Amino acid sequence: MAIKSAKGTRDILPGEVGGWQRVESAAHRIFALYGFREIRTPIFEPTELFVKSTGSDTDIVTKEMYTFTDRGDRSITLRPEGTPGVVRAVLEHRLVGQGEIERLYYLGPMFRYERPQKGRYRQFSQIGVEAFGSAHAATDAEIMQMVIALLADLGIADALLQINSVGHSECRGVYRQALRDALMPRRDELCPDCQRRLDVNPLRILDCKTPGCMQIVATAPRILDYLCSDCSTHFAQVRECLETLSVRHEVNPRLVRGLDYYTRTTFEVVSDKLGSQNAICGGGRYDDLVASMGGPAVPGFGFAIGEDRLVMVAAEMPGAGPCSAPADIYIVHLGPEALKEGLAAAGALRARGLATRIDPDARDLKKQMSKAAGWGARYALLIGERELQGGKYALKRMADGEQHEVPARQWDQIRLEIARA
Ligand code: AMP
Repeated sequence: MAIKSAKGTRDILPGEVGGWQRVESAAHRIFALYGFREIRTPIFEPTELFVKSTGSDTDIVTKEMYTFTDRGDRSITLRPEGTPGVVRAVLEHRLVGQGEIERLYYLGPMFRYERPQKGRYRQFSQIGVEAFGSAHAATDAEIMQMVIALLADLGIADALLQINSVGHSECRGVYRQALRDALMPRRDELCPDCQRRLDVNPLRILDCKTPGCMQIVATAPRILDYLCSDCSTHFAQVRECLETLSVRHEVNPRLVRGLDYYTRTTFEVVSDKLGSQNAICGGGRYDDLVASMGGPAVPGFGFAIGEDRLVMVAAEMPGAGPCSAPADIYIVHLGPEALKEGLAAAGALRARGLATRIDPDARDLKKQMSKAAGWGARYALLIGERELQGGKYALKRMADGEQHEVPARQWDQIRLEIARA
């Protein structure tokens, strides 16, 4: 039997790639407007990087990592998320010091051993940003507004921004205890995963999608009621700034996110076009992460967009259009000398920026003309032995069949005629 792609992975076929390119070019363009620069980090990293930064008792680290020992006996992990690698690179290359600002973004594949379903894969792509150096609430709002601006650029107007605050480590500690105390009497009613979470990391219970757990969580204490006054003020300022920027949002007090490093603001952008895996983007503030990884005390704010899901939603929006690239010009060659001339013509026209097609195996005129139409070419350039001897080609406009002669090898002139059309 022929070999199939590994479970949870998929091919992005040529007909789909245009949707990805559209999303990526919008991200490059919009992020640059906000002062972000692209960074490319390795796809695999030392395993301890994720254990230390993503968090040793998160689902990602305990259940989902692709970890292996390499031939040099090192433990290596395919990156399950982008933030740890970016923070490592920032520290390794001293890209940011205390009191400095650095805004970075990345695009690329991530790997998690999850149960695959629509919108959830084992290899998926994220587009993420990390803004280092500002603890100000306005930064949180500005960056969340950037996500909304990117979605708007792609024609997505109805996605919803949900925000919450998980406080800083101290207020979260107080809340963690209150949550544990509240849930302990109902321990037996929780799912087996959440019974374990109750001991190691009760906040994660708030994320559980099991109906029984969700019902219990609905009556549990809310983290917003446990914030210290600084964290409360910060959250109020974030909301104020979002209003100043006219960014529609709602507060979701259960939103804690699955990663350990968040402090204060957390957020998600959800779309009802996605079914059960409805989050397009998630992120938040991480003021302690850089220091906890051995760096200076530099605050941070970041997010990751699930590109697979964004492409899915964007494809349904007006303006997405078909993804094939039509040719500008198709070269019809009639005879062995004409084929040689045609190959030279294709090289010269491509060098002048024209998408050009030629099929050396095709012989008769009719077949080649139907190929020209099949490729969506705007023009056909006909080269026959007779034309060659007369120093001319024929240029045919595909839309209406209009045809006239053009001088052979006058590539710039041919390019201009096509550009004018
Ligand atoms: P996270 O890194 O878990 O905060 O996720 C950020 C975003 O990445 C989510 O909102 C999803 O859109 C996307 N995402 C996370 N895991 C997957 C997955 N297994 N397959 C596809 N997209 C994912």
